Amino acid sequence: MREINKKHKMPTTAETPQQRVSRLMKANKSKGTKPELLFRKALWQAGGRGYRLHPKDVPGRPDMSFPGRKLAIFVHGCFWHQCPHCEGKKAYPRVNQDFWRNKFAENAARDARVQGQLHERGWRFIVLWECEIHRDADTCARRAVEVLNSRTKPLLTLKTL
Ligand SMILES: [Zn+2]
Repeated sequence: MREINKKHKMPTTAETPQQRVSRLMKANKSKGTKPELLFRKALWQAGGRGYRLHPKDVPGRPDMSFPGRKLAIFVHGCFWHQCPHCEGKKAYPRVNQDFWRNKFAENAARDARVQGQLHERGWRFIVLWECEIHRDADTCARRAVEVLNSRTKPLLTLKTL
């Protein structure tokens, strides 16, 4: 949070709802965004090697995939995927609510569809939320490497490991 405050030169409490939505929207809206880079760096340090980025031939084009181990890793933006763990969920835009409701429902439906497709193809997956990465990228990376090295772990998000 300190980083965010510095960037915006104001305490978080002074943010208007619109500013908060705009900040959350900017975070992790596309490839190679900051949480993903933070995680990749931590993963490298934890010994996680041999992944591919955004492969076209894996359902959902995961942020990272380990083809040999059939493990996909998704870094979910807290706003776009309506994170249940943090303010991403609370920052529901006040304007155009129908639009956003549909948008978030579409995202959730796509996530579920992709996860089903991965499951059918025998892939495991990990969903990481950007807030988890910001909080402790090293732990996220260490757990991901544990899953990577274990062929028996079922489909789980890190929160439930
Ligand atoms: Zn979150």
